[in-house]
Amino acid sequence: MRKIALIYTGGTIGMRRNDVGKLTPMEFEAVSDKVPSLKLLPIDIIPVALSHPIDSSEMTPSIWVELTETIESLMDEVDGFVILHGTDTMAYTACALSFMIQGLRKPVIITGSQLPVGVLRTDAVENLVSAFEFAAMVDENENGLIQEVCIYFEYQLLRGNRAYKRSSNEFDAFSSPNFPALAESGVKVTVANELLWKSKGPLLIQKKLNQEVGVVTLYPGLVYDQLPVLKHWKVLLLRTFGAGNAPRSSQFLKFLQEVEKNGTIIVNTSQCVSGSVVPGLYDSSSTLEQVNMLSANDMTFESALVKAMVLLGQGLSEEDFRGKFTTSLSGELTD
Ligand code: ASP
Repeated sequence: MRKIALIYTGGTIGMRRNDVGKLTPMEFEAVSDKVPSLKLLPIDIIPVALSHPIDSSEMTPSIWVELTETIESLMDEVDGFVILHGTDTMAYTACALSFMIQGLRKPVIITGSQLPVGVLRTDAVENLVSAFEFAAMVDENENGLIQEVCIYFEYQLLRGNRAYKRSSNEFDAFSSPNFPALAESGVKVTVANELLWKSKGPLLIQKKLNQEVGVVTLYPGLVYDQLPVLKHWKVLLLRTFGAGNAPRSSQFLKFLQEVEKNGTIIVNTSQCVSGSVVPGLYDSSSTLEQVNMLSANDMTFESALVKAMVLLGQGLSEEDFRGKFTTSLSGELTD
């Protein structure tokens, strides 16, 4: 029987209404008791709960470290992991784990639900049971078929660092616009074997993150000469328009040059969720070409942000940071 660790972090899946009617996380035993079908699975489930179940909007890099350490400590003991997590920051956590645990050879499937587990129309049961089924699947050598960090939600298994939360009220809450689903579960389960990530290198665990990453979103009407230039930014993510475009404004250029003078690496990441940054495609990207800008290519915003934090945590030289940022480490970009 496959042995799968079930790591409970909180989220709507395990919430109930408190005395004033607000949703708040329950302890783990109360959650698992509400899914009797878990006991019917031919899987040996090892339950693990984080110290305090949280609403995932409380997620922090130190909890990512706690999760990474939990996975690391169980790595030789179990065949895979299912993580229960709130949907709000699930995509960020998926990115963090995919960069903090490289060279993964076991499945890490993150799931949650839009309605709490005790509610009649809940989506929790299907999500949870299917997440376990994917975590327990094996290849012809009896190794875990999935060897990467995924999000399972509403009949789709997505690469975690390619996904983002697209809806707060539909069951189909996640989307992976730049990479196809790895598997779909309907009456039959279909796995796109050719898309699965298979690590080449050894297991490499990174537990340091550096949060000195700034974000500036461009919009028509933004007053560029009032933008603060913060000294502590090691990386600035610039959320540009379309294929990576920005206005040709001298005040904006001055802002970028001052940021660069502080030694901050500027990253061009588009506000579009689908498609890629294409430097130099439009004349309107010419301001950006006057600084040594990095392109986030087709990474999601979540992926670019968390990847910057993890790479900064490694204390790399600027050249190595640039090289790794633009290379696919865990299938997060098309290179
Ligand atoms: N606020 C909740 C959370 O992210 C939402 C959810 O789980 O769907 O923890």
